Amino acid sequence: MNYLAHLKRNPDLYVFLPLLYVAWSDTLLTPSELARLKAFIETQVWLKNEDKEALSNQLNPAAPPSPNEFKAWLAEIRTVLDAGTPERKASLIDIGLKLALQHAGGQQLKSGLQEARKSLYSMEDSLGFINSESVFHFYPESRQTITQQRGTTITFDIDKLAGILDGPNGAIYQKIKKLLSEPEFRYLYTDDLSVYREKVLEWCKLLADQGFGAMGYPKKYGGGGDMATYFAIMEVLSYHDLSLVIKFGVQFGLFGMSIYFLGTEKHHHVYLRDIGTLKLPGCFAMTETGHGSNVREIETTATYDHPTGTFRVHTPHPEAQKEYIGNAACHGQMATVFAKLIVEGKDYGVSAFLVPLRDKSGNILPGVTIRDCGRKMGLNGVDNGVIRFDDVAIPRANMLDRFASVTDEGKFDSPISSDNRRFFTMLGTLVGGRIGIPRSGLSAAKSGLTIAIRYGDRRRQFGPEGGKEVPILNYRQHQRRLMPLLANAYAHHFALQYLTDRFLQRTDEDIQEIEALAAGLKAVATWNTTETLQECRECCGGKGYLSENRIDALKNDTEVYTTFEGDNTVLMQLVAKSRLTEFKQEFSNMDLFAIFNFVAEQAKTTLTERNPLIIRTTDEQHLLDAGFHLSAFRYRERNILTSAARRLKRHIDDGMDSFDAFNVCQNHLILVGFAYIERIILEQFVAQVERTEDARCQAILKKLCQLYALNQMDIHKGWYLENGYMEGVKTKALRKALDQLCWEIRQDAVPLVEAFKIPDSCLAAPISSPVTHSV
Ligand SMILES: Cc1cc2nc3c(=O)[nH]c(=O)nc-3n(C[C@H](O)[C@H](O)[C@H](O)COP(=O)(O)OP(=O)(O)OC[C@H]3O[C@@H](n4cnc5c(N)ncnc54)[C@H](O)[C@@H]3O)c2cc1C
Repeated sequence: MNYLAHLKRNPDLYVFLPLLYVAWSDTLLTPSELARLKAFIETQVWLKNEDKEALSNQLNPAAPPSPNEFKAWLAEIRTVLDAGTPERKASLIDIGLKLALQHAGGQQLKSGLQEARKSLYSMEDSLGFINSESVFHFYPESRQTITQQRGTTITFDIDKLAGILDGPNGAIYQKIKKLLSEPEFRYLYTDDLSVYREKVLEWCKLLADQGFGAMGYPKKYGGGGDMATYFAIMEVLSYHDLSLVIKFGVQFGLFGMSIYFLGTEKHHHVYLRDIGTLKLPGCFAMTETGHGSNVREIETTATYDHPTGTFRVHTPHPEAQKEYIGNAACHGQMATVFAKLIVEGKDYGVSAFLVPLRDKSGNILPGVTIRDCGRKMGLNGVDNGVIRFDDVAIPRANMLDRFASVTDEGKFDSPISSDNRRFFTMLGTLVGGRIGIPRSGLSAAKSGLTIAIRYGDRRRQFGPEGGKEVPILNYRQHQRRLMPLLANAYAHHFALQYLTDRFLQRTDEDIQEIEALAAGLKAVATWNTTETLQECRECCGGKGYLSENRIDALKNDTEVYTTFEGDNTVLMQLVAKSRLTEFKQEFSNMDLFAIFNFVAEQAKTTLTERNPLIIRTTDEQHLLDAGFHLSAFRYRERNILTSAARRLKRHIDDGMDSFDAFNVCQNHLILVGFAYIERIILEQFVAQVERTEDARCQAILKKLCQLYALNQMDIHKGWYLENGYMEGVKTKALRKALDQLCWEIRQDAVPLVEAFKIPDSCLAAPISSPVTHSV
C-alpha cells in the first residue's frame, strides 16, 4: 500500500509527510539521521505498530517513492500552503500538523499527536538537513535570492569612459577600427602556413597604403611624424589577428625604427620611405641560437676590409646563427643585423649593419642561408626564420653609424668611448618596442575579458533548489576570478599611457629611468595578459576552448610576449639594478645633514605606519582610502629596496664576488622590480581618478582603483604580515572589502568592457555577441 493510501486510514501520519518529502527530494538523510528517525518513530506511543511499519517503509533508501507518488505528496502538501507567500520560517512539523488537522476534518488533533508535538519539533531540530528554507522545496519557483537577482546596471556613460581611455587618440582609434571591420580584414581560418602568411602580409600592405606603417617616421621621408599615433595603431590593431600586429611591428617598428634610431640621415633618406610603404620588407636580426637574453655576447662578426671598403658579415658556427627572426622565412629582403664589429683585428663590441637577404623577386642572395622556423605555438601568420651568413660583403655605408662608425681612413670612431656604454646606449634607443608589446598584450587581455564577462553575464548554471538558474558572473568566486583582472586592465592602461607619454617627452636626463619603467611595465603587463587569458579561458568553460570563441588564438599568440622584446624575468632584474643605482645615487648625493633627515623621515614613517592602532585598523573608510593604499605600496617598495641593498652590501663587504652576491639576492631583486612597478601603476591610477571630471566615470574608476590596490595587498599579505605592517585582523578585513568590491563591480562589469569599444568584427566569438542595455 502506498503511503497516501495508508494516510487515509490514519490522518495523524500526515504530520510526517512534509518531512519525508524534503528528505526524499534531496536524499539528504545520512545513515545516522535515518537511524535516529527510525528510533524516534519506535518510541512514539501514539503510533500503532502498523503505522510505525508504514513510516519505516518510507525510510528505506532502497525503496524510494515512485515519481508519481512523490508528485502526489507535493500536491497534498500544497493544499495547506499559500503559493504567493510561503512562510519561510514555517517548520515542516507545523505544515504536517496543518495537514493532519485538515484531514481530521478541521477538528482538534487527537490527543496522542497533541502530546507528541514537543518531541516532534525537537526531532525536526535534531535533523541537520532541515532548515528554515526547506519550505522552498514546495514552492521553488517563488524563491528570489540576492544571488539570482544580481545583474548588469549602467551607472556611467560608456562613451564618456571610452573617451577617457582613448585620450587624444580617439580619432585614429575610430579610423583603424573602421578599417578592421571592412571585409578585407575578415579573419582567415586556415591550417596552411603559407596562405596565412601571405594574408598577413596583404593586411600589412593595406595598412601601409593608408600611411599607418610610416606613422612614426619623419614627414620628410613620407611618414606621419607622430610616434604617439604609431603606438595607438599598434594597440588597436591588437584587437585583430595578433600575427598582423607582430608582422606590422617587425617591419615598421623593429626594422624601420632600428634604421631610424641607429642610422643617420643617409640611411633615413635611402630606406625609410620604402620601409614605410612596405616596398622594402625587412627584419631585425639580433637574437642568435646561442645568445638571446645576453645579446652582448652574440658572435656574428662584421669585419671591416679597408681595401674593398666592405664589411664581411659572417656566422662563425651554428650557435651564432640568427634565430627566430620575424619576416625572415618568406618576405624579408634586408635585415638590420647585430654583429661584433672588428676593425683592424680589434673587437669593438656590438653594432648594427644593413644586410640584404633577398632580391626583389624574393630569391635568397649568395652567402645567405635561411631556414624556416616552421609552425609555432602561436603567431603562425608571421614567418620566423633562422639566418646564416657566409662571409657576406656589404658596403661600408651599410653600417648604422649613429653611435659608431669606420672612417674613410679605415679607423674605428665613436663619440662613446666605452664599448659597454655604447652598447647600452644603442639598446636604449630601441625601447619603443617595449612600449608597443605591452600595449598590444593589454588589448588582447581586454578582448579576453570582453568575451568572458559578456558570457558570464548570460551563461546560467545552478541556482537555488528548483529556482531560476543564476548567471555565473553572480557567483562570488567567478567575480573574484575576473573582477581583479578587469581592474588590472584599467590600471595597466593608464600606466602604459603614462609610459608612452614619458617616452615621447624623454630627455637625456630621464632616459634611463624610462628604460627601466618600460622594461618593468612590459614584464608586468605581459605576464598579466597571460594570466588574464588563462582565467578567461577557464571562465568560459568548454566554450572557451573552442577556437571559434577566439580565446584560443589570443592565448597562443600572446604567449611569447613574455619572452620576446626581452625575457620578463631578465627584464625585472634590469629594473631592480636601475632602482639600486638610483638608490645609491640618492645616498651619495646627500650630505650628512640630508642623510640624517632621510633616516629620521624613514623612522617617522615607520612609526606612524606601524603604529599599533593603524596596523589593526579595519574600518572601511580607511581600507578604501587611496592615501592608505599609496602609503602601503610605497612602504613595501622602499623596504624591499633598502633591505636588498643592505643584503648585497653585506655580502660584498664579506668578500663575496658581486656576481655571486647578485645571484644570492636574485629573488629579492625581482621583488624590488615588482614593488616599484606596482607602485607606479597605482600612482598613475590614483592620478587618473583625480583628474577625471565626469562624476560617474570617476566613481567607477575609483572603485576599480580600490580593487587594484586591495587585490595587490591581498596578494602580498604574507609580506605585510611578516613585516608587521598589518595584523591578521586587518588582512582579513581587506579580503572582505575586496570581495565586496568584486560584488559591487560585477554590476558594472559589462559596461566596463563595452567601454573598451572592441569592434565586433574583431571579437568574432559566438559567445560574446554584444549585450544591449538601456541606460
Ligand atoms: C616568436 C618569436 C619571435 C622572435 N622574433 C625575434 C626577432 O624578430 N628578432 C630577434 O632578434 N629576436 C627575436 N626573438 C628572440 C627573442 O627576443 C628571444 O627569444 C628572447 O630574447 C629570449 O632569449 P632566449 O630565447 O635565448 O632565452 P634565454 O635567454 O636562453 O632564456 C631562457 C630562460 O632563462 C632565463 N634566464 C636567462 N638569463 C637569466 C638570468 N640572468 N637569471 C635568471 N634567469 C635567466 C630566462 O628567464 C628564460 O626563462 C623572437 C623569439 C620568438 C620566440
